[in-house]
Amino acid sequence: MNANWNFDNSYARLPERFFTRIHPTPVSDPELVMLNRSLAEELGLNVEALASEEGVAVFAGNHIPEGAEPLAQAYAGHQFGYFNMLGDGRAILLGEHVNSNGERVDIQLKGSGRTPYSRGGDGRAALGPMLREYIISEAMHALRIPTTRSLAVVTTGEVVIRETELRGAILTRVAASHLRVGTFQYAARFLSKEELQTLADYAIKRHYPNGEHASNRYLFLLEEVMKKQAALVAKWQLVGFIHGVMNTDNMTISGETIDYGPCAFMDVYDPKTVFSSIDTQGRYAYGNQPYIAGWNIARFAESLLPLFHDEEEKAIELAQEVIAPFPTLYETYWLKGMRAKLGLCTEEEEDKKLIGELLHLMHTHRADYTNTFRALTLDEWNFSEKEFRDWHTRWQQRIARQDMKKEEVYEFMRQNNPAIVPRNYRVEEALAAAEQGDNTVMERLLYVLSAPYAYTKEQDEYAKPPAPSDRPYRTFCG
Ligand code: AMP
Ligand code: MG
Ligand code: MG
Repeated sequence: MNANWNFDNSYARLPERFFTRIHPTPVSDPELVMLNRSLAEELGLNVEALASEEGVAVFAGNHIPEGAEPLAQAYAGHQFGYFNMLGDGRAILLGEHVNSNGERVDIQLKGSGRTPYSRGGDGRAALGPMLREYIISEAMHALRIPTTRSLAVVTTGEVVIRETELRGAILTRVAASHLRVGTFQYAARFLSKEELQTLADYAIKRHYPNGEHASNRYLFLLEEVMKKQAALVAKWQLVGFIHGVMNTDNMTISGETIDYGPCAFMDVYDPKTVFSSIDTQGRYAYGNQPYIAGWNIARFAESLLPLFHDEEEKAIELAQEVIAPFPTLYETYWLKGMRAKLGLCTEEEEDKKLIGELLHLMHTHRADYTNTFRALTLDEWNFSEKEFRDWHTRWQQRIARQDMKKEEVYEFMRQNNPAIVPRNYRVEEALAAAEQGDNTVMERLLYVLSAPYAYTKEQDEYAKPPAPSDRPYRTFCG
């Protein structure tokens, strides 16, 4: 049986210092836990063949499919503000699969053994965090947020040692590419100008082909990545997604969300919300994400400087001109999204104030982020506080000023406010069952999360906020 893998590995044709050719380390007893059938079909892959023994051996790193050229990518990055040499320490790129529409995606195994970039790490991953990435990345995709996808999870039959002994697993990640801001930082710091230029040309050809005709293609690349990231982070903010570890190596050039480590969705609205156990300073708190995205884009611009202009001063000036609008651009995307969440199809000067007042009320009254908008959308607004009721009246008046039927407004809101998001306690419950070999809880969660704008009856159960707890929710790097 043929899985229909169709590899063409453009990254492997880059200069050799961009990667190390290395095979995954075989595992003793692979077993398929998750297979994403709809994604497999989108990719033109044969689901039956993927689920067969040979198919699973590919996901486990035990068998290299024809045409694949396994390698670990080199990159650097600012981790919590500090520059480090990194690289794929526990991931191996099998290659680029091209489907029948000519769409090209990276196929990467995460948790597939040590590489020259592993530093102290074991190159492995535990089942819980890989399933967590599967659930959240697929939920993000259903929320219409650009993201890497998850094709499969296999257990390895081996144990990984963290605080305790955990079941080892490998995730097969699908991405537009794994080029990161950190890939450019690596080239700028350690490679020649020619190699940096080769990388930039490669990124333009792969992700922003219009740039091939731009007057300054490298400024064009910077501008396009900036726009993509501004749009992406606005989408995160609008659904209450907290990435948790926005290091420059975790920011893609394609504009997809990547690296689902300590990420989580916010329940109660508070800009200071942090879930990651290692983010003690709150650098990557919810409210900081737009600012950090801008900081990361500035690091991207710095890496590209030698390509903008031969004179450094002039290059800096050109770069600054391109990235200066980032905060305004972000706010434009965010405001457009917020207007949509409130059912506003026209633009009024006072809208920003109306939105700000709602957020302020949500913050002071510790309202649930998703459910506040859900309640507005379902016209089930039952806040008892006078301030909330006053705000609601003003909002109703604002809605009435646009030429749109009430039903149309609510329909528009349903398309822009998810009925449900992957609540942390629901994700934990699914992972705990899966850890015991019961996947039904996770399958059901994935099913309801696959249509977040559907507002079906069966989703109601999943919309409930967590029960009050005296301990804050904490996430860990897998
Ligand atoms: P992250 O914080 O997930 O972006 O990872 C940062 C760096 O640590 C990357 O270079 C990863 O490949 C590497 N890394 C994370 N976990 C492991 C592990 N268990 N073994 C080896 N390298 C790892
Ligand atoms: Mg990472
Ligand atoms: Mg990670």
